[in-house]
Amino acid sequence: MEYDLIKLSQKIESKVIRDGKRLFAGFSVEKNVDSPTFSAVAYSCGCNIGCYYCSSTVRDYIDGKVPDINLRTLKTGGLRKGFYSSEELLTIFLTMAASPSNFGETRPGDKVDTFAILDCETTIGMDFVFRFMDSLASYNKEAGTRYKFELFTNGILLGHHPEYLDKLANYRDCLTIRFSIKAGNEAAFTHRVDTSPEYFQCPFEALKKCIELGIDNYVCVLSDEKIMAAEEFEEINRRLAEVGYTREIYEEKLIMSVSCINRIRKHQEKYPDYEFRFRFRESILLIYDPNVEGTDLVARKLNSGIRRVLGKAGMLWALGDNFNEILYSSGNGYTGNTSVVFVTDLSTYVPSEIADVFREIGIEEYGEIILLDVGNRGFDGLSTFKHHSVNGEKLKVRTLRELCRVDEASSISPEDIVRAGHNITYFWL
Ligand code: SF4
Repeated sequence: MEYDLIKLSQKIESKVIRDGKRLFAGFSVEKNVDSPTFSAVAYSCGCNIGCYYCSSTVRDYIDGKVPDINLRTLKTGGLRKGFYSSEELLTIFLTMAASPSNFGETRPGDKVDTFAILDCETTIGMDFVFRFMDSLASYNKEAGTRYKFELFTNGILLGHHPEYLDKLANYRDCLTIRFSIKAGNEAAFTHRVDTSPEYFQCPFEALKKCIELGIDNYVCVLSDEKIMAAEEFEEINRRLAEVGYTREIYEEKLIMSVSCINRIRKHQEKYPDYEFRFRFRESILLIYDPNVEGTDLVARKLNSGIRRVLGKAGMLWALGDNFNEILYSSGNGYTGNTSVVFVTDLSTYVPSEIADVFREIGIEEYGEIILLDVGNRGFDGLSTFKHHSVNGEKLKVRTLRELCRVDEASSISPEDIVRAGHNITYFWL
Protein backbone atom coordinates (compact mmCIF):
# COMPACT_ATOMS: atom_id res chain seq x y z
CA MET A 1 0.00 0.00 0.00
CA GLU A 2 1.27 3.42 -0.85
CA TYR A 3 0.30 6.22 1.44
CA ASP A 4 1.64 9.53 2.54
CA LEU A 5 4.03 8.62 5.32
CA ILE A 6 4.45 12.26 6.29
CA LYS A 7 0.71 12.76 6.77
CA LEU A 8 0.53 9.48 8.65
CA SER A 9 3.32 10.62 10.97
CA GLN A 10 1.41 13.85 11.63
CA LYS A 11 -1.75 11.91 12.36
CA ILE A 12 0.06 9.65 14.81
CA GLU A 13 1.72 12.67 16.41
CA SER A 14 -1.69 14.23 17.03
CA LYS A 15 -2.69 11.07 18.92
CA VAL A 16 0.42 10.37 20.95
CA ILE A 17 1.31 13.95 21.82
CA ARG A 18 -1.14 16.16 23.69
CA ASP A 19 -0.35 19.67 24.86
CA GLY A 20 3.33 18.93 24.36
CA LYS A 21 3.18 15.74 26.46
CA ARG A 22 3.91 12.34 24.96
CA LEU A 23 2.12 9.13 25.75
CA PHE A 24 4.20 6.47 27.51
CA ALA A 25 2.93 3.01 28.27
CA GLY A 26 5.61 1.73 30.63
CA PHE A 27 9.11 2.22 31.98
CA SER A 28 11.92 -0.12 32.84
CA VAL A 29 15.67 -0.39 33.24
CA GLU A 30 17.08 -2.80 30.71
CA LYS A 31 20.36 -4.02 29.42
CA ASN A 32 21.21 -2.03 26.34
CA VAL A 33 20.18 -3.78 23.16
CA ASP A 34 23.60 -3.36 21.61
CA SER A 35 26.02 -3.04 24.53
CA PRO A 36 26.53 -4.44 28.05
CA THR A 37 25.53 -1.22 29.83
CA PHE A 38 22.03 -0.36 31.08
CA SER A 39 19.46 2.01 29.75
CA ALA A 40 16.43 3.66 31.35
CA VAL A 41 13.71 3.01 28.83
CA ALA A 42 10.27 4.52 28.27
CA TYR A 43 7.85 2.63 26.05
CA SER A 44 5.65 4.66 23.80
CA CYS A 45 3.61 3.89 20.69
CA GLY A 46 3.18 5.16 17.17
CA CYS A 47 5.19 4.18 14.14
CA ASN A 48 4.94 5.40 10.57
CA ILE A 49 5.85 2.12 8.89
CA GLY A 50 4.64 -1.43 9.36
CA CYS A 51 7.47 -3.96 9.62
CA TYR A 52 5.60 -7.25 9.63
CA TYR A 53 7.98 -8.74 12.17
CA CYS A 54 7.62 -5.85 14.65
CA SER A 55 7.24 -7.33 18.11
CA SER A 56 6.10 -4.16 19.83
CA THR A 57 2.96 -4.75 21.83
CA VAL A 58 2.07 -1.10 21.99
CA ARG A 59 2.97 0.00 18.49
CA ASP A 60 0.49 1.96 16.46
CA TYR A 61 -0.41 -0.04 13.44
CA ILE A 62 -0.68 1.88 10.18
CA ASP A 63 -3.82 3.90 10.73
CA GLY A 64 -2.68 6.27 13.40
CA LYS A 65 -4.94 4.77 16.04
CA VAL A 66 -3.57 4.55 19.58
CA PRO A 67 -3.86 0.90 20.60
CA ASP A 68 -4.60 -0.61 23.97
CA ILE A 69 -1.52 0.15 25.97
CA ASN A 70 -2.49 -2.00 28.92
CA LEU A 71 -0.70 -4.81 27.17
CA ARG A 72 2.65 -4.09 28.73
CA THR A 73 3.12 -5.06 32.33
CA LEU A 74 4.39 -2.09 34.24
CA LYS A 75 7.46 -2.71 36.33
CA THR A 76 7.77 -1.63 39.91
CA GLY A 77 8.65 1.90 40.84
CA GLY A 78 5.24 3.47 40.96
CA LEU A 79 5.30 4.84 37.41
CA ARG A 80 2.08 4.78 35.49
CA LYS A 81 1.23 4.96 31.84
CA GLY A 82 0.14 8.38 30.73
CA PHE A 83 1.17 11.60 29.05
CA TYR A 84 4.44 13.12 30.24
CA SER A 85 6.25 16.31 29.27
CA SER A 86 9.90 16.10 28.15
CA GLU A 87 10.97 17.57 31.51
CA GLU A 88 8.88 15.00 33.39
CA LEU A 89 10.37 12.25 31.25
CA LEU A 90 13.89 13.37 32.14
CA THR A 91 12.96 13.37 35.84
CA ILE A 92 11.66 9.80 35.45
CA PHE A 93 14.84 8.69 33.69
CA LEU A 94 16.99 10.25 36.41
CA THR A 95 14.92 8.54 39.09
CA MET A 96 15.41 5.22 37.32
CA ALA A 97 19.15 5.86 36.97
CA ALA A 98 19.40 6.65 40.69
CA SER A 99 17.86 3.30 41.73
CA PRO A 100 17.94 0.93 38.75
CA SER A 101 16.99 -2.16 40.76
CA ASN A 102 13.55 -0.66 41.44
CA PHE A 103 12.84 -0.66 37.74
CA GLY A 104 14.47 -3.75 36.30
CA GLU A 105 16.60 -6.79 36.84
CA THR A 106 19.94 -5.30 37.75
CA ARG A 107 22.72 -6.30 40.10
CA PRO A 108 24.49 -4.08 42.62
CA GLY A 109 26.93 -1.88 40.76
CA ASP A 110 25.03 -1.90 37.47
CA LYS A 111 24.81 1.64 36.15
CA VAL A 112 22.41 3.35 33.80
CA ASP A 113 24.26 5.57 31.35
CA THR A 114 21.72 6.02 28.54
CA PHE A 115 18.06 6.86 28.11
CA ALA A 116 15.84 5.73 25.27
CA ILE A 117 12.27 5.68 24.00
CA LEU A 118 11.29 2.33 22.49
CA ASP A 119 8.46 0.52 20.71
CA CYS A 120 7.68 3.50 18.53
CA GLU A 121 9.27 5.83 16.00
CA THR A 122 10.92 8.40 18.26
CA THR A 123 11.13 11.07 15.57
CA ILE A 124 7.33 11.39 15.40
CA GLY A 125 6.93 14.61 17.36
CA MET A 126 10.40 16.09 17.06
CA ASP A 127 9.52 19.15 19.15
CA PHE A 128 9.19 16.81 22.11
CA VAL A 129 12.62 15.33 21.31
CA PHE A 130 14.24 18.78 20.99
CA ARG A 131 12.78 19.89 24.31
CA PHE A 132 14.00 16.69 25.91
CA MET A 133 17.49 17.20 24.48
CA ASP A 134 17.51 20.78 25.82
CA SER A 135 16.63 19.52 29.31
CA LEU A 136 19.17 16.72 29.17
CA ALA A 137 22.00 18.95 27.93
CA SER A 138 21.27 21.49 30.69
CA TYR A 139 21.09 18.81 33.36
CA ASN A 140 24.39 17.24 32.28
CA LYS A 141 26.05 20.65 32.34
CA GLU A 142 24.76 21.58 35.78
CA ALA A 143 25.19 18.17 37.42
CA GLY A 144 28.47 17.29 35.72
CA THR A 145 26.94 14.05 34.40
CA ARG A 146 27.34 12.42 31.00
CA TYR A 147 24.00 10.78 30.36
CA LYS A 148 23.22 10.15 26.72
CA PHE A 149 19.96 9.88 24.85
CA GLU A 150 19.95 7.06 22.37
CA LEU A 151 17.53 7.96 19.62
CA PHE A 152 16.11 4.79 18.05
CA THR A 153 14.85 5.49 14.56
CA ASN A 154 14.05 3.99 11.20
CA GLY A 155 15.67 7.16 9.83
CA ILE A 156 12.89 8.05 7.41
CA LEU A 157 11.75 11.36 8.91
CA LEU A 158 15.36 12.37 9.61
CA GLY A 159 16.16 11.84 5.92
CA HIS A 160 13.02 13.62 4.78
CA HIS A 161 13.64 16.59 7.10
CA PRO A 162 17.41 17.13 7.07
CA GLU A 163 16.89 20.28 9.16
CA TYR A 164 16.09 18.00 12.11
CA LEU A 165 19.66 16.73 12.01
CA ASP A 166 21.08 20.26 11.83
CA LYS A 167 19.25 20.98 15.07
CA LEU A 168 20.18 17.66 16.69
CA ALA A 169 23.84 18.44 15.99
CA ASN A 170 23.60 21.01 18.82
CA TYR A 171 23.32 18.09 21.24
CA ARG A 172 26.27 16.03 19.96
CA ASP A 173 27.64 15.60 23.48
CA CYS A 174 24.64 13.75 24.76
CA LEU A 175 23.15 12.07 21.71
CA THR A 176 23.62 8.84 19.79
CA ILE A 177 21.40 8.01 16.85
CA ARG A 178 20.69 4.33 16.30
CA PHE A 179 19.50 3.70 12.76
CA SER A 180 17.53 0.56 12.04
CA ILE A 181 18.01 -0.09 8.32
CA LYS A 182 15.10 -2.12 7.03
CA ALA A 183 16.06 -3.24 3.53
CA GLY A 184 18.70 -3.27 0.84
CA ASN A 185 16.54 -2.31 -2.12
CA GLU A 186 13.28 -0.51 -2.88
CA ALA A 187 11.20 -3.60 -3.55
CA ALA A 188 12.18 -5.33 -0.32
CA PHE A 189 11.68 -2.08 1.61
CA THR A 190 8.20 -1.46 0.20
CA HIS A 191 6.85 -4.88 1.05
CA ARG A 192 8.73 -5.62 4.24
CA VAL A 193 7.74 -2.39 5.97
CA ASP A 194 4.56 -1.72 4.03
CA THR A 195 5.21 1.78 2.80
CA SER A 196 5.97 3.71 -0.35
CA PRO A 197 9.34 3.06 -2.10
CA GLU A 198 9.96 6.80 -2.28
CA TYR A 199 11.20 6.72 1.32
CA PHE A 200 13.74 3.95 0.79
CA GLN A 201 16.72 6.31 0.44
CA CYS A 202 15.76 8.52 3.39
CA PRO A 203 17.58 6.52 6.13
CA PHE A 204 20.78 6.39 4.06
CA GLU A 205 20.59 10.13 3.39
CA ALA A 206 20.02 10.79 7.08
CA LEU A 207 22.96 8.61 8.03
CA LYS A 208 25.22 10.39 5.54
CA LYS A 209 24.29 13.77 6.98
CA CYS A 210 24.64 12.49 10.51
CA ILE A 211 28.19 11.35 9.76
CA GLU A 212 29.01 14.70 8.12
CA LEU A 213 27.68 16.57 11.15
CA GLY A 214 29.68 14.41 13.54
CA ILE A 215 26.67 13.12 15.46
CA ASP A 216 27.47 9.80 17.13
CA ASN A 217 25.59 7.02 15.36
CA TYR A 218 25.46 3.36 14.57
CA VAL A 219 23.48 1.05 12.36
CA CYS A 220 21.46 -2.05 13.16
CA VAL A 221 20.00 -4.49 10.68
CA LEU A 222 17.70 -7.42 11.21
CA SER A 223 19.91 -9.55 9.02
CA ASP A 224 18.47 -12.84 10.24
CA GLU A 225 18.14 -15.02 7.15
CA LYS A 226 14.59 -15.83 8.19
CA ILE A 227 13.77 -12.25 7.22
CA MET A 228 16.50 -11.15 4.82
CA ALA A 229 18.58 -13.08 2.29
CA ALA A 230 22.37 -12.77 2.55
CA GLU A 231 22.50 -11.03 -0.86
CA GLU A 232 20.22 -8.28 0.40
CA PHE A 233 22.37 -7.78 3.47
CA GLU A 234 25.30 -7.32 1.07
CA GLU A 235 23.32 -4.61 -0.73
CA ILE A 236 22.88 -2.83 2.60
CA ASN A 237 26.60 -3.10 3.26
CA ARG A 238 27.34 -1.56 -0.11
CA ARG A 239 24.93 1.33 0.39
CA LEU A 240 26.30 2.00 3.87
CA ALA A 241 29.82 2.11 2.46
CA GLU A 242 28.62 4.61 -0.18
CA VAL A 243 27.40 7.01 2.51
CA GLY A 244 30.66 6.67 4.44
CA TYR A 245 29.55 4.36 7.25
CA THR A 246 32.55 2.39 8.44
CA ARG A 247 31.51 1.24 11.90
CA GLU A 248 30.25 -2.19 12.85
CA ILE A 249 26.72 -3.18 11.86
CA TYR A 250 24.83 -4.48 14.87
CA GLU A 251 22.48 -7.37 14.43
CA GLU A 252 18.90 -6.86 15.50
CA LYS A 253 17.24 -9.89 17.03
CA LEU A 254 14.08 -11.37 15.67
CA ILE A 255 11.57 -11.83 18.47
CA MET A 256 8.29 -13.45 17.50
CA SER A 257 5.38 -12.50 19.73
CA VAL A 258 1.67 -12.95 19.34
CA SER A 259 1.26 -9.32 18.24
CA CYS A 260 3.96 -9.86 15.64
CA ILE A 261 2.24 -13.01 14.41
CA ASN A 262 -1.00 -11.06 14.06
CA ARG A 263 0.85 -8.51 11.94
CA ILE A 264 2.30 -11.26 9.78
CA ARG A 265 -1.21 -12.58 9.17
CA LYS A 266 -2.41 -9.15 8.05
CA HIS A 267 0.66 -8.73 5.92
CA GLN A 268 0.06 -12.10 4.27
CA GLU A 269 -3.50 -11.11 3.44
CA LYS A 270 -2.30 -7.86 1.96
CA TYR A 271 0.64 -9.23 0.02
CA PRO A 272 -0.37 -12.77 -0.95
CA ASP A 273 2.48 -12.97 -3.47
CA TYR A 274 5.16 -11.90 -1.01
CA GLU A 275 7.68 -14.66 -0.49
CA PHE A 276 7.84 -15.09 3.26
CA ARG A 277 10.66 -17.18 4.56
CA PHE A 278 8.40 -19.06 6.97
CA ARG A 279 5.03 -20.87 7.03
CA PHE A 280 2.29 -21.34 9.58
CA ARG A 281 1.45 -24.93 10.42
CA GLU A 282 -2.05 -25.74 9.19
CA SER A 283 -3.08 -28.49 11.54
CA ILE A 284 -1.46 -29.58 14.80
CA LEU A 285 -2.08 -32.68 16.90
CA LEU A 286 -0.65 -32.69 20.42
CA ILE A 287 -0.23 -36.10 22.00
CA TYR A 288 0.80 -36.26 25.61
CA ASP A 289 2.64 -39.17 27.05
CA PRO A 290 0.69 -41.11 29.70
CA ASN A 291 3.95 -42.33 31.21
CA VAL A 292 5.37 -38.88 31.88
CA GLU A 293 3.81 -36.80 34.62
CA GLY A 294 2.82 -33.25 33.75
CA THR A 295 2.78 -33.65 29.97
CA ASP A 296 -1.01 -33.21 29.97
CA LEU A 297 -0.67 -29.75 31.52
CA VAL A 298 2.09 -28.79 29.12
CA ALA A 299 0.01 -29.92 26.14
CA ARG A 300 -3.02 -27.95 27.31
CA LYS A 301 -0.97 -24.78 27.78
CA LEU A 302 0.63 -25.26 24.37
CA ASN A 303 -2.81 -25.64 22.89
CA SER A 304 -3.96 -22.42 24.44
CA GLY A 305 -1.02 -20.65 22.74
CA ILE A 306 -1.80 -22.35 19.44
CA ARG A 307 -5.42 -21.21 19.62
CA ARG A 308 -4.39 -17.60 20.12
CA VAL A 309 -2.30 -17.62 16.97
CA LEU A 310 -4.20 -19.87 14.58
CA GLY A 311 -7.65 -18.88 15.83
CA LYS A 312 -8.40 -22.55 16.55
CA ALA A 313 -6.92 -25.01 19.00
CA GLY A 314 -4.88 -27.97 17.91
CA MET A 315 -6.15 -31.50 18.39
CA LEU A 316 -5.29 -33.06 21.71
CA TRP A 317 -4.96 -36.77 22.45
CA ALA A 318 -4.57 -38.49 25.79
CA LEU A 319 -3.42 -42.05 25.49
CA GLY A 320 -3.86 -45.19 27.54
CA ASP A 321 -0.88 -46.56 29.43
CA ASN A 322 0.32 -48.78 26.64
CA PHE A 323 -0.49 -46.40 23.81
CA ASN A 324 -3.14 -48.84 22.74
CA GLU A 325 -6.13 -46.57 23.07
CA ILE A 326 -7.03 -42.93 22.82
CA LEU A 327 -8.62 -42.13 26.17
CA TYR A 328 -9.59 -38.64 25.26
CA SER A 329 -9.45 -36.58 22.14
CA SER A 330 -10.46 -33.04 21.38
CA GLY A 331 -10.62 -31.16 18.13
CA ASN A 332 -10.79 -32.59 14.68
CA GLY A 333 -9.44 -31.98 11.23
CA TYR A 334 -6.65 -34.54 11.20
CA THR A 335 -5.17 -34.77 7.71
CA GLY A 336 -2.08 -36.14 6.05
CA ASN A 337 -0.58 -32.65 6.52
CA THR A 338 -1.03 -32.63 10.28
CA SER A 339 2.02 -31.82 12.39
CA VAL A 340 2.06 -34.38 15.18
CA VAL A 341 3.69 -33.12 18.38
CA PHE A 342 4.54 -35.85 20.90
CA VAL A 343 4.99 -34.24 24.32
CA THR A 344 7.25 -36.47 26.35
CA ASP A 345 10.49 -36.93 28.24
CA LEU A 346 12.82 -38.32 25.62
CA SER A 347 15.32 -39.51 28.19
CA THR A 348 12.84 -42.29 29.00
CA TYR A 349 13.05 -43.67 25.45
CA VAL A 350 15.60 -45.00 23.07
CA PRO A 351 15.19 -43.65 19.53
CA SER A 352 14.12 -46.93 17.97
CA GLU A 353 11.08 -47.05 20.30
CA ILE A 354 9.59 -43.91 18.81
CA ALA A 355 8.51 -45.65 15.63
CA ASP A 356 6.80 -48.27 17.84
CA VAL A 357 4.96 -45.57 19.75
CA PHE A 358 3.52 -44.14 16.55
CA ARG A 359 2.65 -47.57 15.25
CA GLU A 360 0.79 -48.32 18.49
CA ILE A 361 -1.15 -45.08 18.22
CA GLY A 362 -2.08 -46.00 14.68
CA ILE A 363 -0.77 -42.83 13.10
CA GLU A 364 0.41 -43.54 9.61
CA GLU A 365 -0.15 -40.36 7.71
CA TYR A 366 1.12 -37.01 8.91
CA GLY A 367 2.99 -33.97 7.68
CA GLU A 368 5.77 -34.21 10.25
CA ILE A 369 6.52 -35.59 13.67
CA ILE A 370 7.93 -33.27 16.31
CA LEU A 371 9.26 -34.77 19.51
CA LEU A 372 8.87 -32.16 22.22
CA ASP A 373 11.11 -32.98 25.14
CA VAL A 374 9.89 -31.72 28.50
CA GLY A 375 12.49 -33.72 30.42
CA ASN A 376 15.28 -32.58 32.66
CA ARG A 377 17.61 -30.20 30.99
CA GLY A 378 21.02 -31.54 30.40
CA PHE A 379 19.82 -34.71 28.65
CA ASP A 380 22.55 -35.05 26.08
CA GLY A 381 21.00 -37.85 24.05
CA LEU A 382 18.54 -35.55 22.27
CA SER A 383 20.55 -35.26 19.09
CA THR A 384 20.46 -39.03 18.57
CA PHE A 385 16.69 -38.80 18.04
CA LYS A 386 17.20 -36.37 15.17
CA HIS A 387 18.97 -39.05 13.19
CA HIS A 388 16.08 -41.46 13.45
CA SER A 389 13.07 -41.64 11.21
CA VAL A 390 9.52 -42.88 11.24
CA ASN A 391 8.20 -44.06 7.88
CA GLY A 392 11.28 -42.63 6.26
CA GLU A 393 10.72 -39.12 7.70
CA LYS A 394 13.46 -37.65 9.85
CA LEU A 395 12.22 -36.77 13.32
CA LYS A 396 12.27 -33.19 14.47
CA VAL A 397 13.33 -32.66 18.06
CA ARG A 398 12.57 -29.56 20.12
CA THR A 399 12.96 -28.95 23.81
CA LEU A 400 10.31 -27.12 25.77
CA ARG A 401 12.95 -24.72 27.04
CA GLU A 402 14.02 -23.87 23.48
CA LEU A 403 10.43 -23.40 22.38
CA CYS A 404 9.70 -21.18 25.41
CA ARG A 405 12.84 -19.18 24.63
CA VAL A 406 13.94 -19.18 28.28
CA ASP A 407 17.55 -19.61 29.13
CA GLU A 408 19.10 -22.39 31.15
CA ALA A 409 19.02 -20.45 34.39
CA SER A 410 15.33 -19.47 34.30
CA SER A 411 12.39 -21.52 35.42
CA ILE A 412 9.57 -22.10 32.96
CA SER A 413 6.28 -20.41 33.85
CA PRO A 414 2.82 -21.36 32.52
CA GLU A 415 2.91 -18.15 30.44
CA ASP A 416 6.19 -19.31 28.89
CA ILE A 417 4.48 -22.52 27.78
CA VAL A 418 1.58 -20.60 26.25
CA ARG A 419 4.21 -18.58 24.37
CA ALA A 420 5.82 -21.84 23.28
CA GLY A 421 2.41 -22.67 21.80
CA HIS A 422 2.67 -19.50 19.69
CA ASN A 423 6.10 -20.55 18.55
CA ILE A 424 5.06 -23.97 17.40
CA THR A 425 2.49 -22.55 15.02
CA TYR A 426 5.08 -21.57 12.43
CA PHE A 427 8.30 -22.85 11.00
CA TRP A 428 11.10 -21.27 9.07
CA LEU A 429 11.80 -22.44 5.55
S1 SF4 B 1 10.30 0.66 12.69
FE1 SF4 B 1 10.42 -0.41 14.65
S2 SF4 B 1 8.53 0.21 15.75
FE2 SF4 B 1 8.25 0.70 13.57
S3 SF4 B 1 7.20 -1.07 12.71
FE3 SF4 B 1 9.38 -1.34 12.37
S4 SF4 B 1 10.11 -2.58 14.10
FE4 SF4 B 1 8.11 -1.73 14.69
